[in-house]
Amino acid sequence: MDAQRTLRRPISCVGIGLHSGNKVHLSLKPAPADFGVRFRRTDRGDHEVPATVQHLAGIQLATGLSRNDVSVETVEHLLAALVSMGVDNVLIELNSPEVPIMDGSAAPFIYLIQEAGVKRLQAPRRYLKIVRPIALSRGDKRIALFPSDHFKVTYSISYDHPMLRHQSRTLRITEESFVDEVAPARTFTFLKDVEMLRQNGLALGGSLENAIVLGETGVLNNALRFEDEFVRHKILDAIGDLALVGYPVVGHLVAHRAGHALHTEFAGKILRESDAWRLVEATAEGLAPLGVKDPAPRLAN
Ligand SMILES: [Zn+2]
Repeated sequence: MDAQRTLRRPISCVGIGLHSGNKVHLSLKPAPADFGVRFRRTDRGDHEVPATVQHLAGIQLATGLSRNDVSVETVEHLLAALVSMGVDNVLIELNSPEVPIMDGSAAPFIYLIQEAGVKRLQAPRRYLKIVRPIALSRGDKRIALFPSDHFKVTYSISYDHPMLRHQSRTLRITEESFVDEVAPARTFTFLKDVEMLRQNGLALGGSLENAIVLGETGVLNNALRFEDEFVRHKILDAIGDLALVGYPVVGHLVAHRAGHALHTEFAGKILRESDAWRLVEATAEGLAPLGVKDPAPRLAN
C-alpha cells in the first residue's frame, strides 16, 4: 500500500518575510492521516488556514490563503516541497503572515523535511488522477492538464529581456527529480520592477540573498544555479500552487507564460470539473478508483 505520510518529528527555522521584511518563526509538526496541510497562526490565537483552493486569497506576486480574515502569504515554495517529498499531513505554525522566503527556493524546506524525517501512516494515500484534458487560458497565458501515468510538468516562458527570452523544460516529477532539478531554483525579478515594488511597500525583505535580480546587462547575483533556473522556478511555483487541490496529481501539467494567478485559478477549475478526474488509491496492481465518487472530507475544509 502507498500510505499517507507525515513528519517523524517537529522541526523549526527562522527566516524573513519577503514583503514585510519581518523575522518569522516557522515550525513543521507531524499530523494524523487525513489532516492534510494546514497553517496555524500562533500570533492570531492559533487560527488555522487549510492549504486548499477554498481559502485562496490575494494572489499577486505570490500565493496567499486566508480564512476568517486571518491570512498566510507566500505559501507556494513550502507547499511544493511538501507535496514533492510525499508529506501529506503536516501542521505549519507561523508567528507572522508570511512564510519565510529563505533563499528564494524550496531547497531550505527540503533540508527541513529531510532533517525531520518522514514516516508512514496507517491510511492509503489518495491521488487526483486526470482522465480527460482540462485547460484554461487568459490572453497568451495558458495552462492545461492531460492524462498521464505520472506527474509531469512542461513549462515555457518568454520575456522581452536581453538576458531572458525563451526557456522551456519538461520534467517527470519524483522526489528525486524535484530535490535535484527543481527545488534549488530561486525566484527571480527584474531590476526595473524592484523600485516599483519598494515604493508600494513590497519586497522590503528582498535582496540578492533571496532572489535572482536581472539587470539590463546581466544577473546581479554572482551566478545562476542552473542555466535555465528561471523556467525551473516556474515549475516549482506551479507544483506548489497545484498542491492546493489537496491531493498529489497524476497527470501532465503544461503551462506557457503562466503565473500564480493562472495557476491558482486553474486549481479551482480542476476541482469544479469533477468529471475530468478520479480520486484513486495506489494498490499493488497500480492506481485503483475509490468506491465513492464523493470528494473526500479534505475538500470540504
Ligand atoms: Zn516562486
